[in-house]
Amino acid sequence: MTEFSPTHVHVHRSADREEQRAFLRRALESFVRVKSKQVIALKPNLCAPLPSQTGATTELWIIEETAKFLRERRARPVLVEAPSHIHDYDQVMDVTGVRELCKSMDIEMVDSRVHTMALRPLKHDDPKGRVYRVGMAALGADGIIVLAKLKTHNRTQVTLGMKGLMGLLSWPDRHDFHRRGVEEDVVELYRRLRSRIRMTIIDGITAMEGHGPTNGRPVAMNSLLAGTDTVAVDAVGCHMMGFEPEDIHHIRLAHEQGLGNMKAKWQVHPEGTPLPVRPFERARPDNGLRTKVISFPPLSAALRAARYGVRGRTFPALAPTAVGQVLTEEAAVCPTGALSLPASLDTTKCIGCGLCIDASPGRVIKESGLQKARRLARELAAAGGVR
Ligand code: SF4
Repeated sequence: MTEFSPTHVHVHRSADREEQRAFLRRALESFVRVKSKQVIALKPNLCAPLPSQTGATTELWIIEETAKFLRERRARPVLVEAPSHIHDYDQVMDVTGVRELCKSMDIEMVDSRVHTMALRPLKHDDPKGRVYRVGMAALGADGIIVLAKLKTHNRTQVTLGMKGLMGLLSWPDRHDFHRRGVEEDVVELYRRLRSRIRMTIIDGITAMEGHGPTNGRPVAMNSLLAGTDTVAVDAVGCHMMGFEPEDIHHIRLAHEQGLGNMKAKWQVHPEGTPLPVRPFERARPDNGLRTKVISFPPLSAALRAARYGVRGRTFPALAPTAVGQVLTEEAAVCPTGALSLPASLDTTKCIGCGLCIDASPGRVIKESGLQKARRLARELAAAGGVR
């Protein structure tokens, strides 16, 4: 059996859930040392009210297995995360199923945007350096385990372990990060949190390509990445999606600052298996204007209050043939109960995750005319080189 080495990034590829669990367990046993009564912050990616099957958020079983591992060592897991500043915390926890999981395992959940502490410059830094406000539950914990996601991003090209740390920031800091351009702040945030991170896992079971971090398409990669150097883990994640880590500004910057090794070797499990690589469709270029607009504090507060979620991401529509049909498979995947039986779609409950469209065997649920027109316009623009 292949040993786990802290100098390598470990990658596992299998569609078998028991094998995935066994890999995660061995990685945790190899890299995470915890003492009784220690508090460990779990930092998954729960950026939006979208279930993990969409490729946007971390799989529930990864949170569950990591929490179990900590409990067995009498440590206390605390789930510290917050969605993007425009999303409502409760809606995200309900739609992703995280609230139910945490309730069943008695795991405390903390919205990192609400109770925050100052993260000041480090000991030998300029004391006048920028101060970030970071979730108190993460800063006060004995360590952080990052449970990130393998996906593309419209501002930073990829979002993996380092970029995901933005989920620990207060609302004002998130707004400021977006206004300043994100990447240099992401590296600085990572530099200050690095000593607290015990391990980084990247969930590449269902990854996301295209217009991530929320509007892309799911890709079944059936892969997990694990390591103690977040920069190295992120770099291997880049290779798997067909990106060169040198081309990703925040990863290159972190490497140049000596915060990690973007050229670290990887070890694929089972031994002898090649690194799973699939060139991901890139996110459409984004000049950040939309983000600047929606991160205007009163507007983002209004979107949260209205639980606007990801409405408009996908518009499902019932085909005329759906009348009188019992859409069992489609209703089973709907995370909000927007589909009821016999065929009926409650558009007020629909968040536009698109899972019912993929699950509809007879295509009785399909993308709406508006959705199709938007997609065709985008495809035409891309084919004509219009940016
Ligand atoms: S109706 Fe379809 S698109 Fe809407 S929330 Fe349910 S599964 Fe998602």
